[in-house]
Amino acid sequence: ANIVSDVICTFCGTLCDDLEIELSDDGRKIKEVYHACAIGAEKFLHSQAEDRITRPRMQDDDGNWTDVSYEEAAKYTAKILCDAKKPLMYGWSSTSCEAQSVGHEIAEAVGGMVDNTATVCHGSSLIAVQDVGIPSCTLGEAMNRADRVVFWGCNPAHAHPRHMSRYSVYPRGFFTGKGSKSRKVIVVDPRKTDTASLADAHLQLEQGRDYELLSALRVAFRGEKLPDFVAGIPKDQIYEAADLLKSGRFVIIYFGMGVTQSLGKNHNIDIAIAVTRDLNDYTKAAIMPMRGHYNVTGSGEVLGWQFGFPFCVDLSRGVARYNPGETSSNDLLVRDELDAVFVLGSDPGAHFPISSVKKIAQLPSVAIDPHLTPTTAVCKLHVPVAFVGVEVGGCCYRMDNVPIESRKVVDPPEGMLTDQEFLTMVLGEVRKCKGV
Ligand code: SF4
Repeated sequence: ANIVSDVICTFCGTLCDDLEIELSDDGRKIKEVYHACAIGAEKFLHSQAEDRITRPRMQDDDGNWTDVSYEEAAKYTAKILCDAKKPLMYGWSSTSCEAQSVGHEIAEAVGGMVDNTATVCHGSSLIAVQDVGIPSCTLGEAMNRADRVVFWGCNPAHAHPRHMSRYSVYPRGFFTGKGSKSRKVIVVDPRKTDTASLADAHLQLEQGRDYELLSALRVAFRGEKLPDFVAGIPKDQIYEAADLLKSGRFVIIYFGMGVTQSLGKNHNIDIAIAVTRDLNDYTKAAIMPMRGHYNVTGSGEVLGWQFGFPFCVDLSRGVARYNPGETSSNDLLVRDELDAVFVLGSDPGAHFPISSVKKIAQLPSVAIDPHLTPTTAVCKLHVPVAFVGVEVGGCCYRMDNVPIESRKVVDPPEGMLTDQEFLTMVLGEVRKCKGV
């Protein structure tokens, strides 16, 4: 069989790097995907769909679509960005670092607002890290060492399906030779999730009371007194969880949007980091955000190198400014400050409030995405591009900040551009119209 090995799955932030893809004899079609989870496999197979959109298309006011060339699409994109006083350039989390850096050059030339999907997921974690730093580690270190694993406000069984089998719960590591038998797992979640059903302890706290429970753990570590219940959890359960964590040789706390987007937001992460720091008085402990899109971490990195801030970057004054809450995408939409919207590698149509999506639909807009999404449905221009990690390679950052080079497996449909190629065309047009 015609097998490509060591393929990277560019779906979620786990960036599994052990996939095998069976190709047709001529190497043009993907026949089977091995080792991926269901969502990862679907990404590869979906790229082969017969009804895939392969040419850019414009939508008129009556919702009718007309095919246009990539040249026309690049001109339209450059024009709406150059004409706008404050264009939003949003997304970036499902593309390569190379494409991101070209996009940021465009943003700098047009004085845009550059923001990524962290704005509605782990942006609060980034703010907390800026406040207090973060004691973290790599997934490899966690796999080899961690014997106490906490999933706080996240459900990897559904959102990162191979995380538990590759890194956190089941694999045998250097110091964790008995796999899951060498680990104790605590899940903190108001819901009885599939991850919680696998845990040794499930702290089923009341919704939005994470800050109280994290504070209570800090009290319990010191052996001080707690009220009978905190966040709906009996104090005995909290003392037991604290003892379980303190008795470990290496604790890893994975946290998700259940903590970052519930009441308290970045303050929840501040105190989760304080819990991790406290634990280091008794054992070794680290904490890591469960990043969703496969390269949202890379977007923060590239923005960081280029402008000094990981999201919500305002370039409209000729210098980089950063003030989440003021310069974040959804806030800009709510305040009607934007006059053009450019989306690449994300789906605000599915994730933003409907009032904001309606505003995107009223503005000059472009969505660059291989898929048909709620965002492509409301934008004036849809530019389909090759799938990163399937039809073109490129650098991506795993959730633990490790850069991994994704691989090309098959050619894109004939004549289709990659997002980096399309952005380079747009940059050329922007330079012409700005005279730079
Ligand atoms: Fe892909 Fe994530 Fe599934 Fe791994 S866990 S195969 S990276 S979707």
